[in-house]
Amino acid sequence: PIGWALIGASNVARQWIVDAIRAQPESQILNVLSSNEERGARFATENGIPAHTADIGTILSDESVDAVYISTANQFHCSQTLAAASAGKNILCEKPVALSVDDARKMITACRDAGVVLGVNHHLRCNAMHQKLRQLLAAGEIGRLNAVRVFHANFLPQALQGWRINDPNGGGLILDSTIHDIDTLRFLIGSNPTHVMAMTQSGRLAHDGVEDGIMVVMRFPGDVLVQIHGSYTVPFSEGGVEFYGSHGVLIGRDCMSQRAAGRLFMRNADGEREIPVHHHNLYHYALAAFSNAVRGTGQPAATGEDGLAALAIALAIRESALTGRQVEVEIP
Ligand code: NDP
Repeated sequence: PIGWALIGASNVARQWIVDAIRAQPESQILNVLSSNEERGARFATENGIPAHTADIGTILSDESVDAVYISTANQFHCSQTLAAASAGKNILCEKPVALSVDDARKMITACRDAGVVLGVNHHLRCNAMHQKLRQLLAAGEIGRLNAVRVFHANFLPQALQGWRINDPNGGGLILDSTIHDIDTLRFLIGSNPTHVMAMTQSGRLAHDGVEDGIMVVMRFPGDVLVQIHGSYTVPFSEGGVEFYGSHGVLIGRDCMSQRAAGRLFMRNADGEREIPVHHHNLYHYALAAFSNAVRGTGQPAATGEDGLAALAIALAIRESALTGRQVEVEIP
């Protein structure tokens, strides 16, 4: 059995992860941590969790807790992961894995030294359409890759218009959403960009210098150009990807959300056809991979190293937006 504790009485835990943990064999949620007693109690009651606490020590000293899911605000991911690793707990951490690459590296080292699993919840690579797209690209179905466009603009729901739009430290579109695009691109293309350039917007929803819109241009190895449009302020848009190759085009539609959705099309000299995709719940898939890793089989869908690479690229994008310069990506 895997005993879980939730660190963070968050929206994403309530909406997706409680159910995804319980969908795994022999897995139960034993406790939930909230800094606020009342919120923790409510979260535990509403989600059928037998205990709640405001003291992380209660969770970390509990031997029946094998794994923790960390979904607190971004600035707490590092310290809570380090504490959990030193207590021998396996860790599924939300993205961004940390706010700095140094912190992410410390987390990876601490988990390795403690012999515990560290996974980062970049869910989009768990979408069956992206997994199919990755196979087709790797098999050379559209020839040599030339360019990619990613569309990930939407309107941030009222309920999420908190730290995302007002916290210059842990908030903003880049570390919240663009980082998912980056992870997805790394997963699909199989490499890291070498150079990035970006311009951001602010002020439609976000304030205090926090970005709420972005356009990014990146160069990947093999002289592949990639473009991302992301936004919190565009209603009625559909998330998608387009991969342009020497012999064809692969188009993914409605594939940048949390839902088990997305349609895949290939266009080439034979015309356009839809490629069938058998969808599965993204979070169930992530939790299955993580649980298997805890049991000694395989790896999390996205590892600590994946989280670090996505963060390093996201921070390079932010630096480019702030300085107005092209930034060379270094992944230490
Ligand atoms: P929430 O704002 O719901 O929760 C974050 C923290 O804020 C909680 O841990 C909680 O603290 C505190 N909090 C929650 N509700 C309130 C409230 N009403 N008033 C004051 N504080 C509150 O965050 P999200 O669920 O949107 O995001 C949590 C993490 O998950 C982030 O790191 C985010 O990037 C990531 N995320 C990942 C997604 C994915 O699909 N991979 C999707 C959405 C988010 P406490 O625990 O102390 O009660």
